Amino acid sequence: MDIPALRTALLGWFSAQGRELPWRLTAPNGRRDPYRVWVAEVLLQQTQVVRGRVYFERFLMAFPTVQALAEAPQEAVLKAWEGCGYYARARNLHRAAQLMAVQGMPTSYDGWLDLPGVGPYTAAAVASLAYGERRAVLDGNVRRVLGRLYAVLQPTDLWAQGVADALLDPAKPGDWNEAVMDLGATVCIPKAPRCGGCPLASRCAALASGEPGRYPAPKVRAAVREIRGVALLIGTPERLYLEQRGGTLLGGLWGLPLEEVQGGDEHAALKRLQCRLAVSGAELVGTVAHTMTHRQLGVSLYQAEGRLPLTPAAQRPLSRLDHKLLALAAGRVTQPALF
Ligand code: SF4
Repeated sequence: MDIPALRTALLGWFSAQGRELPWRLTAPNGRRDPYRVWVAEVLLQQTQVVRGRVYFERFLMAFPTVQALAEAPQEAVLKAWEGCGYYARARNLHRAAQLMAVQGMPTSYDGWLDLPGVGPYTAAAVASLAYGERRAVLDGNVRRVLGRLYAVLQPTDLWAQGVADALLDPAKPGDWNEAVMDLGATVCIPKAPRCGGCPLASRCAALASGEPGRYPAPKVRAAVREIRGVALLIGTPERLYLEQRGGTLLGGLWGLPLEEVQGGDEHAALKRLQCRLAVSGAELVGTVAHTMTHRQLGVSLYQAEGRLPLTPAAQRPLSRLDHKLLALAAGRVTQPALF
């Protein structure tokens, strides 16, 4: 493989056809702004770029600097993150910003890696894009591009990182990383790669095989767990009784009182919820289906009367599941049951 020629081909394509994204503002030194890169990379870990753009603008509007983020209450951070899912990311951004407000912003890969919620991918992205450090990023997109370039059916992380490091342009590590990311996101896409417009086509072993889409073989996905639950609406969809959730998945967010159904007995789950909140009588509103990490939820929503403090829904950060439940109660959507 003629690596210098490959770099020239990909960087030429990137400079003509790379995506214009709101976090790609260039500072006077020609590099990216580390705060924007950090927030964007954390956001894009589990959010698609189209939706990520909207969330990014909203988050940056609320917290334009790392200092503003550090000084905000956690609830305000979760509110600005509302709808993005995986709320541990927002809690980690907040904790990391508070550390940076005291210690200063790291300027190296190792310094970024020490911050909560920052893994090798994000550290490499910030270090290369904002500081010009020679660190190659490796995510699913990069792994797919490299697996195809060399026609490797099952590229391990170790192999892919080794190849990514070897191909990284030492003179332009940030541009190189963005170029590979963009190629994977817009041309070398998962199901039907657009090889006709690919700057690496003449060097690609998967294309030469005649079946580029076969590479790499899909990873075996973890089994999805089905969970049923019961939720209670006390009040109206606009003003209701809310509880703050614990745990790592939705911790810190607020939502409707919820109880998991055990052994398929929805009636017993509803009874437990009614006892806990000291409410009686409940009328079924409908059922909402919602998918979270390796979980498929089917939640039956009941409406009940109770003497509990009511809060305007708009004042609290709510999960997407709770927004769906409120939309159902307001008659804005009808969701089929999953089970
Ligand atoms: S030629 Fe096709 S398979 Fe190969 S890197 Fe380009 S888009 Fe991907």
